[in-house]
Amino acid sequence: MLLEEYGLLNSVDFSIPPHVRIEMGTWKAKGIGIVMSLFDSSPMAVTIGHVVYFPDPKAYQRGEPNARAALLAHELTHVKQWEEKGTVGFLKEYFQEYLRTRRQGVDTHDPQQGISLEREAISVEREIYNELIGVK
Ligand SMILES: [Zn+2]
Repeated sequence: MLLEEYGLLNSVDFSIPPHVRIEMGTWKAKGIGIVMSLFDSSPMAVTIGHVVYFPDPKAYQRGEPNARAALLAHELTHVKQWEEKGTVGFLKEYFQEYLRTRRQGVDTHDPQQGISLEREAISVEREIYNELIGVK
């Protein structure tokens, strides 16, 4: 399972899998943040393939540690989805569902009706968060 695979259950300071790269506040990360904010609310992190971009690292670092770890788990779920579906498969599914959420007027990150790739990531994020704060 994803959580054990990435060693996310044991510690807030879990290590990032070696094939995943983090870009904190680089120009590319900032640019991606700006582009994404045109389609959605400004994201704290964006995953593209094996790279997780943080457009505004200061905002991320201000976050509560458990929430930060849980967000990383959310983004690592997207890495896994890219791996499983491939770039074309991931983008096709994400974009189709994005259009559906727009038509239906629901939030792309709505835990019930949002984009299914996001719903999966949100559920991992919540699971990790609850694990970290000791709620079963
Ligand atoms: Zn997401």
